[in-house]
Amino acid sequence: MPGLRNSMSLSSLSSMDRPDMARMFDLSLASLTHIPPSRRSSTASLQPQRPGPEDGRRMRGVELSNDELARPDVKPPVINSKKKKRRKHNITANLSGTRYDIVRQMVEKVGFSVAKDDDPLSYLIWSDCFVSTDRVSELKPFQRLNHFPGMGEISRKDCLARNMGKMQKSFPEEYNFIPRTWILPADYGLLQNHAKDMRAKKKTKTFIVKPANGAQGHGISLFRNAEKIPPSEHFIVQEYIDKPLLLDGYKFDLRVYVLITSCDPLRIFLFNDGLVRLATEKYLPPQESNVNHLFMHLTNYSVNKHNEFYKRNTGNDTGSKRSIRYFNEYLRNSDIDVALLWRNIADMITKTLIVAEPHVLHAYRMCRPGVPSYSDSVCFEVLGFDVMIDRKLRPWLIEINRSPSFGTDEKLDFDIKSALIEDTFRLLNVKASDKRRNIAAQKAEAQKRLLRTHKKVEQGEQTEMDKKRQSLEKRKDELRDLLTKIRKASSGEDFENRNCGRFRRIFPCDDRARHAKYCTMLASSFSLFLSGRGATMKKEIEVNYNNKLREDDVLDMLAECEAEEKDGKMFIGPQGRGMREPRPLQSMPESIANFPEEDEEDEGSDEDTPPTTPALNGRVRSARLATRLNSGTQRPPSYRSASDTSRPPSEATTLRGPARPQSQVSLVNGTRPRSLSRGGGGAGGGGAGTNTSNNRNVSQIRSSVDDSFLSSLVKEREEELTKKTLTSLNEMRIKFPGKTDSEAELLLDKVQMNENWKFHKPRIASYWLVKLDSIKRRKVVDIVRSNVKAVLQRIWHSSDVDNLRLCRIFSRVFNRLLWSHGQGLWNCFSPATGKLYAKPRGNSWETIFSRSTELVSEMEMNCCRRIVQLCRDCLLIVYQFATEAKSGSAPHAPPAPGEDNSLVLQAQNGYLGGRDVKGPNQWNPHTFSQRYSKLYSGRVTETGS
Ligand code: ADP
Repeated sequence: MPGLRNSMSLSSLSSMDRPDMARMFDLSLASLTHIPPSRRSSTASLQPQRPGPEDGRRMRGVELSNDELARPDVKPPVINSKKKKRRKHNITANLSGTRYDIVRQMVEKVGFSVAKDDDPLSYLIWSDCFVSTDRVSELKPFQRLNHFPGMGEISRKDCLARNMGKMQKSFPEEYNFIPRTWILPADYGLLQNHAKDMRAKKKTKTFIVKPANGAQGHGISLFRNAEKIPPSEHFIVQEYIDKPLLLDGYKFDLRVYVLITSCDPLRIFLFNDGLVRLATEKYLPPQESNVNHLFMHLTNYSVNKHNEFYKRNTGNDTGSKRSIRYFNEYLRNSDIDVALLWRNIADMITKTLIVAEPHVLHAYRMCRPGVPSYSDSVCFEVLGFDVMIDRKLRPWLIEINRSPSFGTDEKLDFDIKSALIEDTFRLLNVKASDKRRNIAAQKAEAQKRLLRTHKKVEQGEQTEMDKKRQSLEKRKDELRDLLTKIRKASSGEDFENRNCGRFRRIFPCDDRARHAKYCTMLASSFSLFLSGRGATMKKEIEVNYNNKLREDDVLDMLAECEAEEKDGKMFIGPQGRGMREPRPLQSMPESIANFPEEDEEDEGSDEDTPPTTPALNGRVRSARLATRLNSGTQRPPSYRSASDTSRPPSEATTLRGPARPQSQVSLVNGTRPRSLSRGGGGAGGGGAGTNTSNNRNVSQIRSSVDDSFLSSLVKEREEELTKKTLTSLNEMRIKFPGKTDSEAELLLDKVQMNENWKFHKPRIASYWLVKLDSIKRRKVVDIVRSNVKAVLQRIWHSSDVDNLRLCRIFSRVFNRLLWSHGQGLWNCFSPATGKLYAKPRGNSWETIFSRSTELVSEMEMNCCRRIVQLCRDCLLIVYQFATEAKSGSAPHAPPAPGEDNSLVLQAQNGYLGGRDVKGPNQWNPHTFSQRYSKLYSGRVTETGS
């Protein structure tokens, strides 16, 4: 039988058990690449020769064969030796999670240094395997990790098929690049029907069956007859592409490398080279006689390297592995439109990542709650796309690898992969100063929060004018955020253009029409993901991707706010209470007065750093605006404030330039724009005298209070507020329909009493883990989340609670509770002591917290325990409703959420979620919740005193 000689049969391979196969396929690669860190330096000579600086330049300067992908020579930024030396000691990379020595080599090449051991605070963390979401949550803003959470939605074969299937329904013409796929066992019937239809049409199709989470060709088999395919779990079936483009008579696929530097917003780069992996037995259309010929139908290197006919690449591109650069040249020589082919491949990649984006963004934000979307991404990812091309030159997506191999068995591997890793590092823009800046930003944020709290406390009762001013402040904050986003995007783009090396950005894409099309698809993808939920997120996505506002527009809008503010002052008069800026506290220096030195130095020069406070933002803007005014490039104003109507625009400013906001005038004068400074500057009220005296006060205080004193005050204040939060949380009760608080308490007690627990436990388990789907489960937790948020807002006097440290800690708890299909919350029901009201021991979230690098105080921990308890209560209540509704015993009970989620929906709409804070004397003193509250109140006194 032709080919059998050379082939290892598919069936013999699939009958092997997995460890055997893994051993067989991986042994040689592992022996070459798995070098223990301790021996790395001594074994470095095993690696293909590392290119010197000369080679590096040559590598970057090669004439690129793909017209569309070709870029002008991009030379690596010249690093002078002094700088290089300094950087080397500053930027550290944790490589304990990788077995590839090439990563270490490139780390050193770009001037980073390899951290000793598993340093969790290294700037760069590179891991071959996916890391847990907790690890992502714990990353500091200056760190970079080489994986995104949520990427499994496209890297697992079944998830990819499921997600693509959904998008295919909305865009059948666009999403037609993945072979038709059935997920077993669910789609088994559909598969058989399809096969029957094909038979009726006298067409014979071949199917390829693959493990849903497989890799390296393990467990793959081909079937000519669909009836013979077993309905096994965790497998997918795909239509076999039986007319592939051949290279020298062999089937091949392309390994295309793609870098994602951010998911918020999405930025995708395509690498300008990659691998062509050929099968090692000449291709014949699939027949019963050859479907088992592994070396004919599979193109995996891990499979074909075991064939005696596997040819190593010897430098002249004749082997079983070749470069994409060579492939492009080959196509061009055959008069094929290479540029068109790569446009189609780039289009396919972008569309695939559009499908992944909502999942990735959601997972990322769950890990990093409250982080503004313009912040540098702490994650990046190099994906390996496996692409097949058919005879009509149509690209097909076969699969996506989130941990593509960086093995360097051949020199060709080394050449391509080293350039890929090096250019990736350069695009990440890791700066040694980021760490310092991060610490400074945290400090400034803490002070800003504190100041905001004091302001509110001082203001006392609010007048209409106060409210208006506050809403204007809010609007201005939003506009400033937008401005930062726009500036950040433009400076980021500049950086990318200068440092992309052999990468080319494919999203956002320069072609406007195409970009608009992608944005429509993104919106659809989010709609599918959110399916009716998350209106805020949808709106934000629209603003992010379809934002037509430019920097100048936002500046105009900001100025409009200022003008309104000014009108308010005119209306109210100099005594207008509402417009007067709160007096700075005598004991507390103003936050802006203590700006860290680093930030001051960076002002205006490094605009890719997000301003840490609006005041800094104002100053960065000042520098820019002043430049614009002086250079005469300022746009004419789009409005004039009401107060200026009597004068021509040119008179609105006392010095020069047309009537752009008064803040600009002060900029030209060299003073801080008063309306953009928070506090101290006297936003529109109090007159010049007040303003000056305030400033003097501020500077006096500034000089007299030292940093440590200030941070101890901040800490003290935060502790006090945390304590208040705990008291409020302990008093908080979830309000639910048709029941008074005491009835609710009794109900909870009834379920949780020891004698009842045995009865209820399996039912609640099945209710939570089986009957409620993930959306409903999330809603139960969201009920508590929104209540807790309201408490935080009230206690901390902040509308921006997401940025509070406590809120971030809570988010971690909520994430843990929903972790692993709700297993997290379920674990909270399993106290080791057997008494439900005893302190839960060994629960996953507590264990994780205790291991975390971030220190959580006992009081914060008690707050967390209380919110876990509230989630538990909430679940029990929902469960009770379901049970009662089923048995028809509750006259007012709504339908069971297991059958109909109306209760959970009501809860989401606020019906169940209302807060009901009552004094302790109104409760049944023997209820579970109260006992629990007492327990933790006791701890507060202990720890708080
Ligand atoms: P693995 O993750 O195990 O490598 P793949 O899905 O990448 O699984 O498939 C392995 C190989 O099988 C591919 O490299 C390709 O050569 C071949 N293959 C996979 N799917 C198809 C298909 N639908 N049509 C033709 N060949 C396929």
